[in-house]
Amino acid sequence: MSLEAIESLNRRYLTLRNAEAVRVLKIQDEIVSEIRGFLKREGFVEILAPIIGPVTDPGIRGAKQVSIDYYGANFKIMSSMILYKQMVITSLPKIFALSPNIRLEPLETVKTRRHLTEFRQMDLEVANATYMDMMDLGERMFCHVITKMKQTCSKELREQKRILKVPRRPFKRYTYKEAIEILENLEICVKYGLEIPWDGEEALSKIHSEPFWITDYPVTARGFYYMEHEDNPTILKDFDLIYPEGFGEAISGGEREYRYDKIVERMRRSRENISDYGWYLDMLRSGIPLSAGFGIGVERLTRFICGLENIWDAVPFPRVAGVHSP
Ligand code: AMP
Ligand code: MG
Repeated sequence: MSLEAIESLNRRYLTLRNAEAVRVLKIQDEIVSEIRGFLKREGFVEILAPIIGPVTDPGIRGAKQVSIDYYGANFKIMSSMILYKQMVITSLPKIFALSPNIRLEPLETVKTRRHLTEFRQMDLEVANATYMDMMDLGERMFCHVITKMKQTCSKELREQKRILKVPRRPFKRYTYKEAIEILENLEICVKYGLEIPWDGEEALSKIHSEPFWITDYPVTARGFYYMEHEDNPTILKDFDLIYPEGFGEAISGGEREYRYDKIVERMRRSRENISDYGWYLDMLRSGIPLSAGFGIGVERLTRFICGLENIWDAVPFPRVAGVHSP
C-alpha cells in the first residue's frame, strides 16, 4: 500500500468530503435499501445481528478472530453469524441481517484491494432450502440490484464513468474442479483440496464479463457447517459467486450440515476444539432443520457497482489490515 493511500485513510475526516466519496455513500445507501426491499418481498424477516458470542465462524481462510474478556469468559467478535443463523431459522424460516464482521486479515490482503478487517455482510438463511434454491435467489437479487441502480443512481454512475450491465440468467456455473482446470490453463496451479488463492480468483474473474458461480468445493477447503454430497462426501453443496472484470469473490454460501453426529465428526477432522462449541452442540442435539444461505459483502458489492479500484473507498470508515486509521 502506498504512503499516499495510508495518508488518505488516516485523514478520512477530509477524504470523506470529496465528491466521489459522497457519491459512493449515496449509491451504497440505495444498494442496501434495494436488497432489503427485495428480501422483504421474498418473505424474509430482518433480524438484528449478533456482535459478540462464545464462538464464531472458524472458516475464515487465514484471518484471525478477535477475542474479548466477557466477565471472565473468552468471547469472540463475530467473524460471521453463520452459527446464529442456524439458531434463528428454528423459529423464523427466512431471515436476513446486515451483519458486521471483524477478521484480522493477513497483512498481504492489502494487495488484493478487496479485503477489509471490518466489513458487513447481508447475511441470509432459509430453512429447508437447497443450495440450488439459494443460487437462484442470489441471481435474482443481484439482477434486481443492478437494474435498480441503473435507474435510481444513473447520474452518480455516469459521474463514476461506470457502465453496468444486467447479467443474463442463469449465470455460468463451474465446479471447483473445472475452475482449477481453467486456472491450470492460465498457468496458475491450485492443489486440489485447497481454497482458490486470491490471485487465482482474480485471474478467473478477469476473464469473465458477467458474474459466475463456482460450486462443490472440496470438504478440506471449507468450514464444518457445509453439507457434503450424499454420493460423494469429499465435496460440498456450496458455492461462491465471483464478480466479473477482476473484482473477485462476491458471495459465499451453501447448504448446511445440521446433524449433531456429522458435525462432531467434521469438527474432529478439521481439528476444531469441540469444547469451544458448547451451546452450538447442545442446539444441534435439540434438533434444527436443514437450511441453506449465503452472505454477500456490502463493501465488495459497492466497490463493484461503483467500479472502485480499492474496497477501502467503498465504506465510510475503512479498516484495512495494518493501518491505524480513525
Ligand atoms: P465468507 O463466508 O468468508 O466468504 O464471507 C462472506 C462474504 O463476505 C464474502 O463473499 C465477501 O463478499 C465478504 N467478505 C469476506 N471477507 C471479507 C473481507 N475481509 N473484506 C470485505 N469483505 C469480505
Ligand atoms: Mg468466501
